[in-house]
Amino acid sequence: MTAMPQLKQREKSLIDCHVHLAALPEGTNGCLISEKMLKSPLFRFLLWKHQLSPTDPAAANRKYIQDLLEELRASQHVQQAVLLGMDGVYTNDGRMDPHATEFLISNDYVLEQAKAHPNEFLAGVSINPQRIDAIEELQRCAELGATLVKVLPNAQQFDPGHYRYKKFYRELARLGLPLLSHVGYEFSLIGKDQSVGDPNRLQTALEEGATVIAAHGCSYGLMVYEKFYPTILQFVNRYPNFYADISALTLPNRLGMLLKLRHHPEIFDRLIFGTDYPLSVFHLPLWGLASFSTIRRMMLTTNRFDRQYLVCQNMGLGFVSFNTIIQSTQPSLPSDALPSTDI
Ligand SMILES: [Zn+2]
Repeated sequence: MTAMPQLKQREKSLIDCHVHLAALPEGTNGCLISEKMLKSPLFRFLLWKHQLSPTDPAAANRKYIQDLLEELRASQHVQQAVLLGMDGVYTNDGRMDPHATEFLISNDYVLEQAKAHPNEFLAGVSINPQRIDAIEELQRCAELGATLVKVLPNAQQFDPGHYRYKKFYRELARLGLPLLSHVGYEFSLIGKDQSVGDPNRLQTALEEGATVIAAHGCSYGLMVYEKFYPTILQFVNRYPNFYADISALTLPNRLGMLLKLRHHPEIFDRLIFGTDYPLSVFHLPLWGLASFSTIRRMMLTTNRFDRQYLVCQNMGLGFVSFNTIIQSTQPSLPSDALPSTDI
């Protein structure tokens, strides 16, 4: 299959909108990790895969950043990555609940890394709208140059469809900051109420005018069937401010959606490039669909950013870069607004 001409022009100018920042608590970096999480199989696998030592957090944190920079700089297609933070769980009255929070990557740590490496990183802060200072934190992060806000309702234990968050979503719209929300089941963290991963709950944010990126192409993540396949097609038609990212779509549990979406060129301009780094990118989806030489090329492409680009492209899945959203969500702030952000 030949490369799509519109994508060829963007080589080495793509932004990956879905790259996880990982860090162990160290000094004043504001990050947290529970004992339970430290012992989880996925976490141990990531430590082993990236050869990170939990006994030397400072060295492990530096190595994670260095490895990511190295892989990104070596990519032939991807120029920049949006680094994602991870907010905690908050009580009903909006206070941080350290016992229910398994994992926290602080906004200050995300912003600091983006500032230290402006050619490679953009800041994808995480703000649980349940927190009492959600709007203040949003304004603070916008001032410091955040480029989007990431939420993971299943792990952060809030319902994104609740009317109480309308003001937060309106502020996102005013500041021109997109909301990137996890969709479907969540295995990697300790998910609680999995029903809050339903993309239909993102309608509250969409109705309030926020630009929304549904993660993982709205895939369900359970391999059985893609219950949100009609939802993604309907939302693209209904909401000009709705997008989905293509991160993690080569994983066996999300592959079903990739196989469906590739037949919908009419929505390719709403699909945003992303990987879900540090998760692996599989060449499995191409088996039976591409020639052996193409598959061999994918196998030899060990750079995860390039492999995601090439596998999706060879599957016939079109996508655009996160730049498209940045350009279309320029904030129109009233006169008493905050100073403009870097986006
Ligand atoms: Zn992710």
